[in-house]
Amino acid sequence: MSDDFNADRARYNFKKAMQEIIDLRGRGTELISLYVPPGRHIHEVQAYLRDEYSQSSNIKSKGTRKNVMSAIESIQSRLRTYKNVPENGLVLFCGEVAAAGDQTRMVQHVLEPPEPITAFQYRCDSTFFTEPLLDMAEDKKSYGLIVLDRAEASIGLLTGKRIIPLKNFDSLVPRKHRQGGQSAQRFERIIELAAHEFYKKIANLSTEAFLERTDLQGILVGGPGYTKEYFIREGYLHHELQKKVVDTFDTSYTDEYGLKELVEVAQSALVDMDITREKELIKRLLEEIRKIDGGLAAYGEDEVREMITMGAVDTLLLSEGLELKRLGLRCPNDHFNEVTQPSSREENPPCPDCGEPTEREAEEDIVDDLFELAANMASNVELISVDSEEGEMLMQAFGGIAALLRFRAR
Ligand code: ZN
Repeated sequence: MSDDFNADRARYNFKKAMQEIIDLRGRGTELISLYVPPGRHIHEVQAYLRDEYSQSSNIKSKGTRKNVMSAIESIQSRLRTYKNVPENGLVLFCGEVAAAGDQTRMVQHVLEPPEPITAFQYRCDSTFFTEPLLDMAEDKKSYGLIVLDRAEASIGLLTGKRIIPLKNFDSLVPRKHRQGGQSAQRFERIIELAAHEFYKKIANLSTEAFLERTDLQGILVGGPGYTKEYFIREGYLHHELQKKVVDTFDTSYTDEYGLKELVEVAQSALVDMDITREKELIKRLLEEIRKIDGGLAAYGEDEVREMITMGAVDTLLLSEGLELKRLGLRCPNDHFNEVTQPSSREENPPCPDCGEPTEREAEEDIVDDLFELAANMASNVELISVDSEEGEMLMQAFGGIAALLRFRAR
């Protein structure tokens, strides 16, 4: 399983959990959000919570007081299962939330965020405090950045919205005015050699910076004038990196500021690239389906599931709009069945074999379930947003689940 695959899946899970948490409401000011940054000691956090616990005994409303105190207790006992704060910190949401009718239910969510928590925060409110996490749920794609002319070059990385400058260096290419005594020809040759060495150095440092990065979506190349095109056309970059060059863009600078400029001018190209990729996948799907024999395509949960199991799926296409759960159900007659139903539905369906009521033994988000299945068969998985017309079509026409096949299995 590639890192990319795992990262996609982790981001998806995180996003899904966030959506659930954002919608929850308390009856009073009684939902607790706790942000613990990496490096904090668990016992410090416990001490803080003991203090909050004793202060909450002053809350006037009896119902709210009881709920706040039991939420704190619940967080305390959850924290006891941790020896250390995880790498990126820890976020806990706990409290009594409004449920159907007059009912409430206790929820507890513990998240290990995909990026580090920067500040310790404790909040008690009628909703959970999620702002610091919202940006983390966004897809963080990385791009390599190179800006150059014959005098200077910079290399950087774009991750999400952050630009990280990595290297900046000047060339040894002499200025274009010749010193006395040198022949014009010889001077030209010195310049060309020095430029050649400079481009090789840029390429080597780019290899060091980018080649091992599995999350690299593409490389943007910028700079004033013609040097950047020459650099790409002459194939200085490692061939694996050369394939990832998105395009060249005009910038005025070749320093750290040039990197920022590059990202600005390339912005619309980046957005287009994402959308184009999704559009192309759906277009391929439609082309295959239109073929008389059904082509190399499958759609609908049952068919796609079967194709994955047979190892026939090359790329699994899943809509980010899917709201389904995969349940593992057992009945009193010991029949076990896996069933898919809408996430919003709380009740279990009856046993498909005998019609008796069932117990829920397992429950998983459908995307997670299919991710797992696909990973075991080395199929690729693409999550398709619902923002484009094509993404909408995947959701509406095919129930959000489709696949491009390696071969026709039936
Ligand atoms: Zn049964």
